[in-house]
Amino acid sequence: MTNRTISQINEKIENGEANIYTAEEFKKLIKNDEAPSYDDVDVVTCGTCGVMSGTAAILNFIISEPGEFIRANEVYLNGVPAYAGPCPNEWLGSVDVILHGTAHSIHDENYGGGFLLKDLLEGKSIDVRVESAEGKTIENTITIDDITRGQIIGARMAFKNYTAFTNPNKDSVKSIFAATPLEGNCSGLTFSGCGDLNPLQNDIPHNVIMEGCKVLINGAQGYILGDGTRSSPEKPNLMLSADLCKMDPYYLGGFKTGQGGEIYDTVAIPIPVLNKEIYQNLLITDDKIDLPVADIKGRHLPLDNTNYAAMWDGNDLRPQYDSDKCCDCDRCSVENVCPTNAFKNRKFNIAHCFGCGMCANFCNNGAFNMKTGDVDLEINGSKVNIPIICRQSDRLRGNKLSLKLKKMIENKEFKL
Ligand code: SF4
Ligand code: SF4
Repeated sequence: MTNRTISQINEKIENGEANIYTAEEFKKLIKNDEAPSYDDVDVVTCGTCGVMSGTAAILNFIISEPGEFIRANEVYLNGVPAYAGPCPNEWLGSVDVILHGTAHSIHDENYGGGFLLKDLLEGKSIDVRVESAEGKTIENTITIDDITRGQIIGARMAFKNYTAFTNPNKDSVKSIFAATPLEGNCSGLTFSGCGDLNPLQNDIPHNVIMEGCKVLINGAQGYILGDGTRSSPEKPNLMLSADLCKMDPYYLGGFKTGQGGEIYDTVAIPIPVLNKEIYQNLLITDDKIDLPVADIKGRHLPLDNTNYAAMWDGNDLRPQYDSDKCCDCDRCSVENVCPTNAFKNRKFNIAHCFGCGMCANFCNNGAFNMKTGDVDLEINGSKVNIPIICRQSDRLRGNKLSLKLKKMIENKEFKL
């Protein structure tokens, strides 16, 4: 049971002898009492996907011939405002911008930076409007091929600790934690977090997850820049960065909330099993990971506690849509609440689905079917059973990216 070095694990990978598991595979074995021993596991690839508000993109693209304007003062992409600069690009006809994933279109608050970046990566044309310093308006369209450089910086990604929310008050409350106002009297619960698949949950002391490590962000290889904003030892998160143009649009996108469009991302991180302590930390399972439940209005004081087994165990990751049961209602409640617009014009695009569960909870005619679960809690002295109505994390995407990372390591496309 000796310690190993990264070089020794890399040598095993080179020789095709390394034992690599995704977190999902590893946790399944633990839950079946078949956990591989320390000697039989070299790397576990962990993943998480969720709303990550701290995401921004730095972009450079050409908008006109050189000499047409001095420099940009304001830039809008499909109506989403981006900050011009920091480089002025004087008389060059190109612009540098910083786009916030949480920025909202001036035409539609439900369309924002997350939706825009997905559209861009999917190869769609983007309308650009530049207001120049000398008062000119320049309009053009661009595609991903016109982006000369694009980099994502996530100021606060891969959170470990979340709080679930319910609304014990009488009136409904609009918030960023659900696509619709959360109705009162504890009528629903919304939560985030991929539980025992989350990278930081599997390396709580940060033995291996640290500044400079390589990661996958939305499918592109990137790096940990350091701790994220508001990160603390008790509630850590990471600042990450990767090349936007190498990302896979499946893994990022927009997410509608009660306060307008947000952005979701997917992150996968390898955990090399260098010693027994790292191995022990990987043995954590959903039932051991607490999830406080708070009042959506107060936010910080927990009303009660649950855990991630109650959120995920036995529940579905995607809905089933039965078009025969769809009554073509005048106003479709699913199209109204679906945070990713996966159901649009009565068509279900499962590739855009996030598995949030809102459709199954809001379609009164049973066209969408999905088990999202419920939880027994004691709130203000009363026992209540609360249905889980919205998930803002997607274990399916987290799993898929972990699997992609495992394959990349096995195929020697990603070196530890
Ligand atoms: S609410 Fe349900 S039944 Fe009505 S149009 Fe939407 S999906 Fe179809
Ligand atoms: S689970 Fe339903 S509401 Fe949620 S993203 Fe998928 S289709 Fe939309």
